[in-house]
Amino acid sequence: MPNPKEHSTMEHPKQEVLQVFKKGIDLVRDPILNKGTAFSEKEREEFNLQGLLPPHVSTFEDQVQRVTENYRRKDTDIGKYIFLEALHDRNEILYYALLLRNLEEMTPIIYTPTVGLACQLYGHIFRRTRGMYMPAKAKGNFKKIINNWPEENVNVIVVTDGSRILGLGDLGASGIGIPIGKLALYVACAGIHPSGTLPVVIDVGTDNENLLKDQLYLGEKHRRITGEKYYDIIDECVVAAYERWPKALIQFEDFTNDHAFPLLKKYREKLLCFNDDIQGTGGVALAGLLAGLRITKEKLSDQRIIFLGAGSAAVGIADMIVAGMVEEGLSEQEARKRFWFLDSKGLVTTTRGDKLAEHKIPYAREEKYIETLLDAVKNVKPTILMGVSKQPGAFDEQVVREMKKHVDIPVIFALSNPTSKSECTPSQAYEWTDGNVVYASGSPFEPIKYKGKTYATGQGNNMYIFPGVGLGAIVCKATKITDSMFYAAAKTLANLISKEDLKKGRVYPDLNDIRKISAHIAVSVCEVAYSEGIAWEKRPENLLEIVKSKMFQPVYFQYDAV
Ligand code: NAD
Repeated sequence: MPNPKEHSTMEHPKQEVLQVFKKGIDLVRDPILNKGTAFSEKEREEFNLQGLLPPHVSTFEDQVQRVTENYRRKDTDIGKYIFLEALHDRNEILYYALLLRNLEEMTPIIYTPTVGLACQLYGHIFRRTRGMYMPAKAKGNFKKIINNWPEENVNVIVVTDGSRILGLGDLGASGIGIPIGKLALYVACAGIHPSGTLPVVIDVGTDNENLLKDQLYLGEKHRRITGEKYYDIIDECVVAAYERWPKALIQFEDFTNDHAFPLLKKYREKLLCFNDDIQGTGGVALAGLLAGLRITKEKLSDQRIIFLGAGSAAVGIADMIVAGMVEEGLSEQEARKRFWFLDSKGLVTTTRGDKLAEHKIPYAREEKYIETLLDAVKNVKPTILMGVSKQPGAFDEQVVREMKKHVDIPVIFALSNPTSKSECTPSQAYEWTDGNVVYASGSPFEPIKYKGKTYATGQGNNMYIFPGVGLGAIVCKATKITDSMFYAAAKTLANLISKEDLKKGRVYPDLNDIRKISAHIAVSVCEVAYSEGIAWEKRPENLLEIVKSKMFQPVYFQYDAV
């Protein structure tokens, strides 16, 4: 029997299914095994498919053309999302082939910003179940429930409690759209096998009044469970998943930061896990900054950085920059002095009077309180302005022009998502700095024209980093994920940005190179794991080749060669 690993060498979880030869309508209804109209005459005969499919056998290219036409016919983003998810649910090979060929066009649909709208509308657009729902009412039974998942091998689990979906807030169980989207990116960008991915939402209720009142909302209809009971529910789910798949990577996603930090602290040394909002964001922002400094020709350790927002993203990014400054020779304490954090109450200081959340304390300043961003910019004269506040328009003309007075090329990252939450747009940043700016956004923006020149601004999208980190961790069988892995990933990404991209103002590379990028990031992650002694596998000689060979390719399995 030919080896199904031929086209996707990551331990193929479907091998057993193939060996028992699923037949007839069951084969057509299995989204990973299905080839739809592309089943050959021989396959149709062999697997009892005759009469179940239109008679003409399509080529793969015909199928790609058909779904591309259908996709482009949809005139709303949510319509495109629904179309892509329907394809995802019926033919994953075709879905990933389509996605990989149109990554730049379709990522904003399957991920931010459209996925945010899809989550908001989840109970209204729901078609077919995907992933696992762990409802609070089932507490005590999660070990039993996790066994209902049909796949024996799971490589990556993305889990949310739906409490802080993008910049949109509490969307309860409707937040499942985020793990689904992130895992689609794992497959597309890093070639994790689709059947080895598991999206999970832990449903502890919601405080979103609209959802509680919505007849079609699909989650548990009660307020969020809090305190010790909350942590007990999360723990029971995490342990259940760990016991069934001890080597699987668990990615925590879109938890409010009062839970995100304690959960990361609790599990990061015990199992293979990370929090993408903290560590992934840190990695991708640092990569963009390192690339930006290739334009301004400055050192990281010389920067003065104002953060608007002091949540998970801010701390994740700042910690990663601190690591970079330390590598350039500063002490951790000296490095932290180069940061000014502003939250909803103004500059975060030790003397402000309110009780600071634990994650803000390392960045609290021992100086006079400043209330507004404009005053902070006047005082600090920052070289970098980092927007992670979910406050649209917060980097207004006055703030940006004030910043430009003190620095030749301001570095402005407006990272809040979705697009509607962005602190400023690229056109504004270019306009208000007379075209002298290094700009990156969290959500995608069309290229802009300024004084006759086109700038394709970069999107500091976590998808540049987390898929490669996950792939690396799986390939070397890492026992845990460390910050040094994200730091190594950031440096690798920054070095992959071409001079041509930098000339166009882009501080992130072309998404079409994502498979190459993920492979290199995976290698750098493996190297860290080998050197820190936290890999089960021994280092192979041809690491890059091994990493590439583990990537799933969206190509049909040749059943008729069986
Ligand atoms: P969070 O809820 O943890 O933090 C938000 C922070 O903003 C809080 O510290 C809050 O006090 C502060 N804030 C609220 N109102 C403010 C105001 N008026 N002025 C100043 N600060 C204010 O959220 P997070 O996880 O840190 O994410 C923040 C944003 O960054 C979101 O929009 C998210 O989508 C985005 N993000 C982008 C990327 C990326 O581009 N790669 C990655 C992660 C997060």
